[in-house]
Amino acid sequence: VATLSFDEARSCVLKAVSAHAGEPRVETVSLLDAAGRVLAEPVRADRDYPPTARSVRDGFAVRAADAPHNLRVIGEARAGAGFDSEVGPGEAIEIMTGAPVPRGADAIVMVEHVVRDGDRISTDKPVRAGDFINAQGVEARAGDIVVDRGWRLDYAKIAELATVGCTCPRVYARPRVAILSTGDEVVSIDQTPREFQVRNSNAYALAVQVARAGGIPEILPVARDNYDSTRELIERGLTADLLLLSGGVSAGKYDIVERVLADLDAEFYFDRVRIQPGQPLVFGRARERFFFGLPGNPASTMVCFELFARAALDLLSGCAAAPLPLLHARLTEPFRHRPGLTRFLPAMVDDHGGITPVRWAGSSDVPSMARANAFLVTEEQRESWDTGDWIRALLK
Ligand code: AMP
Ligand code: MG
Repeated sequence: VATLSFDEARSCVLKAVSAHAGEPRVETVSLLDAAGRVLAEPVRADRDYPPTARSVRDGFAVRAADAPHNLRVIGEARAGAGFDSEVGPGEAIEIMTGAPVPRGADAIVMVEHVVRDGDRISTDKPVRAGDFINAQGVEARAGDIVVDRGWRLDYAKIAELATVGCTCPRVYARPRVAILSTGDEVVSIDQTPREFQVRNSNAYALAVQVARAGGIPEILPVARDNYDSTRELIERGLTADLLLLSGGVSAGKYDIVERVLADLDAEFYFDRVRIQPGQPLVFGRARERFFFGLPGNPASTMVCFELFARAALDLLSGCAAAPLPLLHARLTEPFRHRPGLTRFLPAMVDDHGGITPVRWAGSSDVPSMARANAFLVTEEQRESWDTGDWIRALLK
């Protein structure tokens, strides 16, 4: 079909899925259950924020025009209570962070900047109107959209919904994602594998990845490396919103996934990407569903999900694809690779922006993947990096 670079393949997935993703079903959930879900309708501010001018410091509410300031303290305004009287010329009111600014006052002097003597305060700091006051409505005006349709609800967005009193948000239904492992060598994880067998770890990695990305994982029975078994289970998988296959897409004699999909009139967008791990990655659409044929080696399956399938899942969830968590880090040791592929190799990123590759025995090395907290990302064309050089890192 087609061999693409990493960037081309990612763009291809984004474009294809965007073109076909419809609007998911809407449901109402409690606020805490909405964490990680995608908001289905805009939520607006129920009043101005702040609803009235507020002090952002502990100190004294004053009139800026009174400078130089030597003032009489006539009372106290605290968070959780209003204050009725007005600050007149030559007067100040003691005020706590978050309390409404009393009428008459137009600035706050920090408590650290005054000298107090009985009911008198003085300051030698300049005071300008507006100092340490959040004016009414600076954060949001009543009726403004504060959390929009299509936003995935992280902790700050949940906090904003809580702020405006949205107790039961309307969110999109989570997409169902079928997970289909293939291979005569694959046994269930409660079995003791013979030396030519492996436990079905890919189904578990993918289930966790799907759930983390906001989908509902549905693990299907393992497809055997024959046409009928593979076809029956692929047809079942294509009734979900997205199908993830593991294995059976390399060039081996028993890699029959592509043949089965072709017989189902699948449209293939690409079947090879210049990345490692994960070169024989397949992406396509059949029976109005997208599918990824992820190479069976565990590192390939995990990496390809994060690079491509996660973005598809975002789009099917009703939100824009989140950007990859890519950043730059400095190598703590020299690094080289054979150019030609964008590689995603297990690595450790530290608190100081350093990155260290983790010893890796290749795409089947799950212990190495388990130790890593990131992937070091090579460029296709560059061959070597020195200690201290910047290189891209993809956070896990
Ligand atoms: P394949 O892509 O089908 O050629 O599979 C490549 C290798 O990945 C196999 O030889 C297995 O060792 C491993 N593998 C395939 N499927 C799984 C699975 N579901 N869980 C863990 N490892 C797998
Ligand atoms: Mg196989």
